[in-house]
This record gives sequence, structure tokens and C-alpha cells, in this order.
Amino acid sequence: MTETLGRDILDRLNQAAVHSEPGPGVTRFSFTPEHRAVGELLEGWMREAGLETRWDAAGNLIGRAEGTGADPRVLLIGSHQDSVRSGGRYDGMLGIVLPIACMRTLHEAGESLPYPVEIIAFSDEEGGRFTTSLIGSKAIAGGFNMDVLTMADAHGVSLEQAMHDFGAAPREIPLMARRPEDVRAFVEVHIEQGPVLEEQGLEVGVVTALTGIERHRLVLTGKASHAGTTPMDSRRDALVGAAGIVLELDRVCRDTADCVGVVGELEVTPGVVNVIPAQTRLTLELRSPDDAIRVDARERILAAAQRSAEQRGLELEASRVYEQSAVTCAPWLIDALGAAATEETGKPALRLFSGAGHDGLAMIRLTDIGMLFVRSPEGLSHHPDEDLYAHDAGVAAQTLLRFLRGL
Ligand SMILES: [Zn+2]
Repeated sequence: MTETLGRDILDRLNQAAVHSEPGPGVTRFSFTPEHRAVGELLEGWMREAGLETRWDAAGNLIGRAEGTGADPRVLLIGSHQDSVRSGGRYDGMLGIVLPIACMRTLHEAGESLPYPVEIIAFSDEEGGRFTTSLIGSKAIAGGFNMDVLTMADAHGVSLEQAMHDFGAAPREIPLMARRPEDVRAFVEVHIEQGPVLEEQGLEVGVVTALTGIERHRLVLTGKASHAGTTPMDSRRDALVGAAGIVLELDRVCRDTADCVGVVGELEVTPGVVNVIPAQTRLTLELRSPDDAIRVDARERILAAAQRSAEQRGLELEASRVYEQSAVTCAPWLIDALGAAATEETGKPALRLFSGAGHDGLAMIRLTDIGMLFVRSPEGLSHHPDEDLYAHDAGVAAQTLLRFLRGL
């Protein structure tokens, strides 16, 4: 049963992965034709599992099963449909396809749960298209900032326009937020995206906390001049200044426990072989499960960046474009998921924190959150070679079924 279920989940994940922009791996951004196509595939599977489906104002797809008991509070289960550019097949999508398989298993057995369940395919978590992320989960949890609707993607299309063209109703987002008293909890199943479960020889693990994240955009402005005739000590080279910031971020994060960071984008103007760079634009991202550590690292990096700019005669503009505090999972959900995992595997459940952001970062505003991690072969994620063992998908599904029956 476990192996059959696991193979079925893997097979459907491979079918979902077809809905991607051309190129290596899966590239599926929010409010695109690929989003619509994969949503229609998922909607069919939801109906097959006995769920009633709808699309909400933020482009989330939701499948609902009513409960047989008196308690109307709904258990929300879900993950995101979108990917990073050239990402993998399982990040996000596993947390939609797997719970649908669980609900289908119950449906086919004629079994129903005493409480309502909704499975959500969030429209956007990764933020690959716009510089904001967690759009779908923030809308449901009541934490969506309407100001981000004016943000534009790489083609100049605003978020509001993209959502509108998709058939969503961005202006109605404030009306769709759920009330905490109507919700029991939010649970997400996700690949680990790291090496810990594999190192320990475990199929699944229970998440204790999600990392906090912040992102900045930096612009360094110097002066373009002839690369042959300008002496080295009269240059205001904006790329040399940016290099200093990249190295400082790397040094601070290496020296700080539980803190990671990256400069992921760097744009050089004019970008000509024989002209001294006049301007660089770069992004800076920091993550930590402890907010105080992250804020301290940010202050040290930005102070060093300012000093480095001044020394080279550059102007530095820095703006924080995103900040998300770390959140902890609810102890009762950690215990319940851990007990289900132990019953299923016969091994003590490993508890670990997540270095990646997830929809729980937004859902915590609404309700208690819990997360089940599934082993990532070689710890690989956000990569076309991201993998998943069918056996592990089966074990995770059986664990979720035990959790659902025991709740
Ligand atoms: Zn994810």
C-alpha cells in the first residue's frame, strides 16, 4: 500500500512538472499559462478525491471536504504551485499532490473525517516573478499588503494586471481573509531541501521553526571613464565597491552561527569591456531562525558596505524590500506529526528547523502551523535534479493519514 501510494504520488508529480516554461527543470511562475494549466490538472485530481473545488481572489486553488462532526473549524493543508526559475519537480507541488492522494485514499475507502479539510495550491510562494513572495498564503491569512499590487515583473506587467489577466480579483483580496476562529490549523508537507534527513537515514522529519528572511536592493554609483587613460587611484569603480559588499556578506555569514546570506543578483552599467563601471545594482538576502541574529548581521554588513562605498568615492543607496520574521511551529502539531511519523516508521521522529521560507511564514498570522519534511536525495533543491524517493512519498502520505485520523 505504502509503495503503491508513493509511486502514484511520484507519477502525478511528474505529470505536473510538464507545466513549465521551456528550459531545464521546472519554471512555473505565478499567474501565467503554466500556473493555469497545472491548476486545472490539480483541480481534476481534487475532484477525483471527492473534494469540492474553487479558485479564490488571489489565484489560490482550493479543494474542500466537509466533516461529519459538529466542529466546523477547517484543517488547512497545502503548499505552493510555483517554482523558482529552473527549479525542481517536488518543491511545493509535493505538498499539494500528497494530501490530495491522502484524501483520495479516504474517499475510496468510504471513510470521512469528523472535521472539514481544505487542500490549498497557493498561487505564489517563491516570489520568482515579482519581488514579493507568499502572495497566496498572505491573502488567506489576512497579511497581504495591497501596495505590492503596483510591483512590476521583468516585462513591466504589474502584479495587479497579472492577477487580473489570470482571472483572479486582486481588489477583493482584503475580503477573502479567513477568520482565526474558523480554522483549526495549517499543515504543510514539503521536501527538506537540505541534507539532514538523508544523513540520518530517515524518510520524514518534523519541523520546529521556519527561518526569517530579509532582502535588500543596493545601488552603488561611481563614475564611468576610460579604462585605459584613468589612473587606478582616480577611479570610482562601482563594481569594485560591489565586490567588497559581496565578500563582506560572505565573511559575516560564515562567522555567524545560524545565519546565511547571498548576493544573488548583480547588474553592471554600462557593462562594456573598456569602460570603468559607473553603477552596480545588487540584491542582498539574509536568513536565520533567530531574528536577533539576522538583524545584527544585517547591521554589520550594511555598515561595512557604507564604509567601503565612502572609501572608494561611491554613493550607496540601500533599501529593504522584504522582511519576514522567523516563526515557530505549534508544539501540539509537532507532537502529533511526530507521533504519526514514529507509528509509521517505527523510528523516533527527528525534529529540525527549516532554513527555507515556506507558506507557514504567512499562515502563522491566522493559525497554528505544523510541517512535515520528506527526505531530499543529496539535499538538492531549487535545481532541475531535485529528487524524491517513491518510498519516502508513500511513508509521508501514510504519516499524514495517521495524523488526519488521529486529530
Ligand atoms: Zn517550497
